Amino acid sequence: MLDLTDKKALVTGIANNRSIAWGIAQQLHQAGAEMGVTYLPDDRGRFEKKVRDLVSPIDPSLFLPCNVQDDAQIDETFQAVAEKWGKLDILIHCLAFAGKDELSGDFSQTSRDGFKQALDISSYSLTRLAKAAKPLMTEGGSIVTLTYLGGERVVPNYNVMGIAKSALEMSVRYLAAEMGEQNIRVNAISAGPIRTLASSAVGGILDMIHHVEQTAPLKRTVTQTEVGNAATFLCSDLASGITGQVLYVDSGYNIMGM
Ligand code: NAD
Repeated sequence: MLDLTDKKALVTGIANNRSIAWGIAQQLHQAGAEMGVTYLPDDRGRFEKKVRDLVSPIDPSLFLPCNVQDDAQIDETFQAVAEKWGKLDILIHCLAFAGKDELSGDFSQTSRDGFKQALDISSYSLTRLAKAAKPLMTEGGSIVTLTYLGGERVVPNYNVMGIAKSALEMSVRYLAAEMGEQNIRVNAISAGPIRTLASSAVGGILDMIHHVEQTAPLKRTVTQTEVGNAATFLCSDLASGITGQVLYVDSGYNIMGM
């Protein structure tokens, strides 16, 4: 049964009500998980207030600042999880960033700093969060991250983020191989294009969405709730034999030749 009662779930990457992470958090909550939420802090605290108000209906028992480029904040986050819950069952890694300049035009123009930043935030962060989560997943666990088709095929303008997603997907496999012995499963969901803050930075995203609506077998894009349902499945006992995989939640778009 898809029942997450007694499970403790930490969700990263909620920025607003369009965030995929918000779709996931709502479905995990509905399945009975106790929720913890992290947000990206900013100097004026605007994000904190916005995210706090948004997530109040799922009543998170942990609400923590966590910039994944800051090791101290990551360690403080998992210290707080240890103190509050004494364990962790579910970690949702649902964040990425690349500068807008890097997400249009020729890929060969990618800057060294832009490359480092995109790979650090969008790929390395999974490994760093998994490292911090591992000792807390004493009863096994499930780690889920979000990827996109642009990590395995060329999608116009996705550029350095495609490289970051490719590294992310390989990190899923290495982490799954390492952590399987501890019954920690690590998987990725490859979501179809959805209008969010992050996707709006990718040049031509609306054309991509339109293309999917015309081409994908289901003739539509997917919703945050559909991605949330798939993530909830991956975190449940129904998925107990699944690790190291990329699950497509994209209306079937990835199977099409053109
Ligand atoms: P979003 O803008 O709602 O979420 C991105 C999140 O990343 C935000 O909450 C932001 O605060 C967070 N973030 C950025 N830099 C951070 C940092 N240094 N530390 C901590 N958090 C940081 O957009 P989204 O589309 O919901 O993106 C969530 C994930 O889904 C990303 O990995 C994205 O690549 C992936 N994805 C999105 C789509 C899509 O079309 N929207 C498709 C496939 C995969």
